[in-house]
Amino acid sequence: MDLSYIINHLGEERESYMGAVSPPIFQTVNFAYSSISDMRQALKKEMEIPFYTRGHNPTVSLVQKKIAALEGSESCLLFGSGSAAIAAGMLSFLSSGDHIVCVDNPYSWTSKLIRKFLSRFQVRHTFVDGSNPDNFRQAILPETKLIMLESPNSMTFSLQDIEAIVRIAKKHQIAVLLDNSYATPLNQRAFQMGVDMTFHSATKYLAGHSDLVAGALCCRKAHATQIFESEYMTLGAVISPHDAWLLLRGLRTLPLRLEHIGKATPQIATFLEKHPLVKRVNYPFLPSFPDYELAKKQLASPGGMLSILLDVPDLSYVDLFCDSLSHFLLAASWGSYESLIYPASVLYDSQNYSSTSLPWNLIRIYIGLEDPSFLIRDLEYAFQTLENALNEKKDS
Ligand SMILES: *Cc1c(COP(=O)(O)O)cnc(C)c1O
Repeated sequence: MDLSYIINHLGEERESYMGAVSPPIFQTVNFAYSSISDMRQALKKEMEIPFYTRGHNPTVSLVQKKIAALEGSESCLLFGSGSAAIAAGMLSFLSSGDHIVCVDNPYSWTSKLIRKFLSRFQVRHTFVDGSNPDNFRQAILPETKLIMLESPNSMTFSLQDIEAIVRIAKKHQIAVLLDNSYATPLNQRAFQMGVDMTFHSATKYLAGHSDLVAGALCCRKAHATQIFESEYMTLGAVISPHDAWLLLRGLRTLPLRLEHIGKATPQIATFLEKHPLVKRVNYPFLPSFPDYELAKKQLASPGGMLSILLDVPDLSYVDLFCDSLSHFLLAASWGSYESLIYPASVLYDSQNYSSTSLPWNLIRIYIGLEDPSFLIRDLEYAFQTLENALNEKKDS
């Protein structure tokens, strides 16, 4: 299906909204019926027919149709957050006694779901180094029900060879799940590679304006129906009609935003790689990156996030560098219009994250929609401040 068709026309029933170009927000809890027999029919098909907004809401349903079409999956279910989508999706495969194989260092709350939450229900796990598909094969047990991937990873950007891992999983009849947030449906065709279920933190690129939290789960129709009747309705972590509408507005410009980001980010990655105070740049589309060949094969276009390792003697210089930036905002999240910086060092003196295995000198940089030269000037200024401080240290 044509990308422009999906974004502009698919699922838009303009005739029934008095020709409104932008669809109305169905800000309602319930839908009234004129007869008990109609009501009975609706209740039988709660996933497809408006009855009660936790189950079906026309605004939410419109966005679900578009995201499923973008992702190339039969169905999409929207959630109130990416984490809710991931939890519901993983739970749908699991019973007590089962086992999960997950790539090392996934998104922090995915890791906590597996280590702290699922373990309370006797679901065991093995985390593996994702650089070699054979590591997944070796971790598989008779009780293994799913393999969870995050490619590229949203901190280190390392990739997993999705097709190779799918081949291994199929032999053992194990499902492959993928957090596809970084690549988006546009840059990584997960279902064509045989993945069974994908997740998106729609909070990031899909919405793209830092004004809502949402998540998407994409899979086959039969599995979506099963999830709807269980995790979706019982845990009830649904998106509100208003947030779904904002997400739709964000989706309208997704291809344009990604096009800008795909051009701007490699320029900044190249600038950073040349800088003497940068020890390493983790970015899939730099030829120096270990997964460069795999990135070119698996991803249609470069994404907007990378991380660097600063070449400095201690943490205080990482802080100084971050504090010296004025156009990059110091904040969590990514995927919107504004450029952001997130140093691993913030996790260091926090109780909750004392177990992070990320190096203290790692800084994640998200490139937004600003002009790349505007951002490079900001980085140059921060590097200059750093150099001055290092020279002062040498002199004293
Ligand atoms: C942010 C993020 C999530 C969680 O999404 P929320 O919408 O914040 O719940 C999951 N995976 C990745 C890679 C993320 O960056």
